[in-house]
Amino acid sequence: MDEHVIGIMGAMTEEVEGVVSLLQNRKETVIGMRSYYSGDYNDQKLVVVFSRWGKVAAATTVTTLITEFNVSAIIFTGVAGAINSALRIGDIVIGKELMQHDLDARPMIGQFEIPLIHKSKIDSSASLIALSSVAVNQLIEEGMFKLEPFIPYNNGDPKLFIGDIASGDQFIASQEDKKRIHDALPSVMCVEMEGGAVAQICYEYNIPFVVIRTISDTADHDSPDNFQEFTKDVANLYSKVIIRRIIDLKPQIQKLH
Ligand code: SAH
Repeated sequence: MDEHVIGIMGAMTEEVEGVVSLLQNRKETVIGMRSYYSGDYNDQKLVVVFSRWGKVAAATTVTTLITEFNVSAIIFTGVAGAINSALRIGDIVIGKELMQHDLDARPMIGQFEIPLIHKSKIDSSASLIALSSVAVNQLIEEGMFKLEPFIPYNNGDPKLFIGDIASGDQFIASQEDKKRIHDALPSVMCVEMEGGAVAQICYEYNIPFVVIRTISDTADHDSPDNFQEFTKDVANLYSKVIIRRIIDLKPQIQKLH
């Protein structure tokens, strides 16, 4: 058994339930209204938690994973709204750099800059990006997403993108907000509400992390409907198959430490 512990976070109950179901020797610890499920899967110790929504919720959850559960890497899986028009519902984005689109302490410092860190973008771990992309590409090639529940999205043929992700405490559901974010941060592929906070805390604690997001909506007026349908039907399956494959592949592909 690898003694290192990997923290797995999701921002919705649907997203984490599937992953929790993989755990053997499962133990639940409740801290601050969150249930942390520790256990192991395929010789790897994991702690899985529903972060709740938004940057504050995600920041406190990731801090607890680091300080109470001694995790040495974080994988965040969840859903996101598309900003880049190349994305379709069901596609997968692995975050390269994470930003906070609602952070603005001008004129003291530049727009989007994280106070005191002097950075507006935080890099995810290159080795976790590599591991996650091998996992997702394998699942795509094997036709995993051609199975029944995935087919309504992308004809079961999702694409993987590696690109930037922006977070903010706002569900983006209008063309206007979508355009505002695209114009200000053109490299951003998709938006969500937690990744940037996880990135900031992981940077401060020097913990490698990766954010993997499945596109649930197009961040415009159709979003609320797309989002409800997608998360109910398939979000949990995406998280479960992706995390399972990452852990299965990890011993072959890399030692994280
Ligand atoms: N009201 C919803 C939850 C909204 S939170 C419910 O009842 O289930 C939406 C979650 O999905 C957040 O965790 C966020 O990270 C992600 N998300 C998906 N699409 C998004 C979008 N268009 N804008 C912002 N966050 C989005």
